[in-house]
Amino acid sequence: ENTPASNFLQNIVRDDLAAGRVTEVVTRFPPEPNGYLHIGHAKSICVNFGLAEANGGRCNLRFDDTNPEKESQEFIDSILEDVRWLGFSWDGEVRFASAYFQQLYDWAVYLVEQGKAYVCDLNAEQAREYRGTLTEAGRNSPYRDRSVEENLDLLERMKAGEFAEGERVLRAKIDMASPNMNMRDPILYRIRKVQHHQTGKDWVIYPTYDFAHGQEDAIEGITHSVCTLEFEDHRPLYDWFINNLPVPSKPKQYEFGRLNPSYTVTSKRKLKQLVDEGVVSGWDDPRMPTVSGMRRRGYTPAAIRKFCEMIGTTRSDGVVDVAMLEFAIREDLNENAPRAMAVLNPLKIILTDYPEDKVELLSAPAHPTREELGERELPFTREVYIDAEDFREEANKKYKRLVLGKRVRLRNAYVIEADSVVRDEQGNITEVHAHTIPNTIGENPEDGVKPKGVIQWVSASHGKQAEVRLYDRLFNHEAPDRGDNDFMAHINPDSLQVVEQAWIEPSLADAKPEQGFQFEREGYFVADRDEHSAQHPVFNKTIGLRDTWQG
Ligand code: ATP
Ligand code: MG
Ligand code: MG
Repeated sequence: ENTPASNFLQNIVRDDLAAGRVTEVVTRFPPEPNGYLHIGHAKSICVNFGLAEANGGRCNLRFDDTNPEKESQEFIDSILEDVRWLGFSWDGEVRFASAYFQQLYDWAVYLVEQGKAYVCDLNAEQAREYRGTLTEAGRNSPYRDRSVEENLDLLERMKAGEFAEGERVLRAKIDMASPNMNMRDPILYRIRKVQHHQTGKDWVIYPTYDFAHGQEDAIEGITHSVCTLEFEDHRPLYDWFINNLPVPSKPKQYEFGRLNPSYTVTSKRKLKQLVDEGVVSGWDDPRMPTVSGMRRRGYTPAAIRKFCEMIGTTRSDGVVDVAMLEFAIREDLNENAPRAMAVLNPLKIILTDYPEDKVELLSAPAHPTREELGERELPFTREVYIDAEDFREEANKKYKRLVLGKRVRLRNAYVIEADSVVRDEQGNITEVHAHTIPNTIGENPEDGVKPKGVIQWVSASHGKQAEVRLYDRLFNHEAPDRGDNDFMAHINPDSLQVVEQAWIEPSLADAKPEQGFQFEREGYFVADRDEHSAQHPVFNKTIGLRDTWQG
């Protein structure tokens, strides 16, 4: 269970180092700043930073900012924060593809001069037609044989803004009959008259991903350029540019399978739709599979990294059971989260034998096995809350909670016995009267009648009220966006339930935002990163104690 699953990339890197093909491994994580990072990106981050770390190398963080219309500073800031939060540090300064625009343009000019690129006037529809299909070769563009001089002139005028968007593009001259569609004279530059978040109005032509990515890698001295499988067919083009340009180094591209967890969508476009249509409260809604959403949900960086290691790195695009992620979270929190008591559905118990103004300061360990986490103080009083689910007037033997005439232990406190109920006019039980069994703190009752079970409780006079948000999976379909599925039709209607007035033990009001706890018998909870305060405690449910999902 502890052996890391297969990581074929690690083997490649190790062999390259051993054979002296590279002297140092240099990788990069290249997000496009057009959305927040999600669990799939976390995998890519772990792979890229992990390969560098494991081999004494370096990993760059590079914004692949070649599509200015969809990008923004907000996304840049969130990505930087998320990578740091996951526990990784990039080498040197943050890089931007846009910082290489002039160099990329100079290389485009170089290709034109070599007769390996040309300006094409076909519109999008014509270009599609000329491109052919998977079974049919494409045809050469009528503009393919323009002279070098004419191409240089047109390219310069494209750059100067003389033409409208879509009027002309720069294409590589490769092979319109190639079985690989990516090699059929791919586009290097398109006209986009938009402001760029980094370069402002400097450019009206922008390089395509294909023309930019490998050259950026070469500029940065990347040795292993790791991406996901959908780029496998782009690799010959990647190599074509590297081999046909005077680049300072020769990076190589390697692909691995995308991470697709079940019950989840991992596409920035779809996640954006959930935000834009108000299905969730924002990119960092605790139900989102974004890094910032998982953070707000109480997932820990260590658990996310552990999950990414557990699932391995392979060349297949399978679906990974989201229960594996949840398992990793649960394991981490079980080990590290302090214990506390909270009552989500309060029912008042009045201990009629207990003096009205008496307060006993009991204490309990913060963690069952980790003494170093210390103790917490639990004031015990005449009135306490228990969960309404933990009381019944009558019940069979399987019900190990409080029953009229029977006993239960209040966790870390006394054994009590229920005597009677008080009802309102509608007949609902509003209070239970009970009494304590003397000398039962840490001891069994002297009369030998043992309690049925142990339940959590909170002092009514010393406890605090809290808002508790109960989260469940956002989708109720295992593969919400597979095949013909419309992911918006598979939203789980019960993914959020808000308990406005839960009761929490007093020490919990001092929780720091983002501090995680196990609420005993309830699950793992975290103090909300943005909205929790001592005056208005807010906790988010991270995950239940056990896997109870019934999809
Ligand atoms: P999306 O489809 O969500 O828009 P993307 O691949 O376009 O994702 P980028 O910002 O370009 O997003 O991704 C940065 C890096 O993260 C790329 O190398 C990409 O391959 C990788 N990546 C994105 N999604 C996943 C995923 N689900 N699993 C593994 N790696 C991923
Ligand atoms: Mg991308
Ligand atoms: Mg994308």
